Amino acid sequence: MVRSRAYIALGSNLSEPKAQIAAAFAELSRMPRTRCLARSSLYLSAPISAIAQPDYVNAVALVETGLDPYALLEALLSIEHSRGRVRMEQNAPRTLDLDILLYNDLVLSGPHLTIPHPRMHERRFVLCPLIEIAPDCEIPGLGRAQDLLPALSGQILQKMTE
Ligand code: AMP
Repeated sequence: MVRSRAYIALGSNLSEPKAQIAAAFAELSRMPRTRCLARSSLYLSAPISAIAQPDYVNAVALVETGLDPYALLEALLSIEHSRGRVRMEQNAPRTLDLDILLYNDLVLSGPHLTIPHPRMHERRFVLCPLIEIAPDCEIPGLGRAQDLLPALSGQILQKMTE
């Protein structure tokens, strides 16, 4: 079976966010033909939103998967739904958000799926946990994740103690 490697961003700011992320890590390994190879620490970030809402808990996971990118997206959406996520306006609070950051070195741009994730390089809460588990990570078209971090130093992010 063809095995691919994908980095997944996890975020939650409702309904006990730490517990949501812990449950989501476990559910990633329950997706078909998929296992979780690495998980970052949890990070606390201030929301990027005009809507007043609680801070987010964020993390990144590396999975090995036999799912193609679209099947992986479907599986992630199904985990989001199972955790009670209601899709509202953009940047609204959410029980669980799961995004595909990278899938091998694939570059894909379609109506339902863009890889690398189009906003990942603008978000410290994505790049810090990503670099923690993949220090030499390259983002296709953008270069080393490490080199993109200094531009984001104004964004507040705190590593959580477990
Ligand atoms: P949101 O929950 O606001 O992050 O938006 C989720 C929607 O964005 C999904 O239903 C996908 O169709 C779309 N999308 C586009 N690219 C990605 C990606 N790399 N990872 C996850 N969702 C994506």
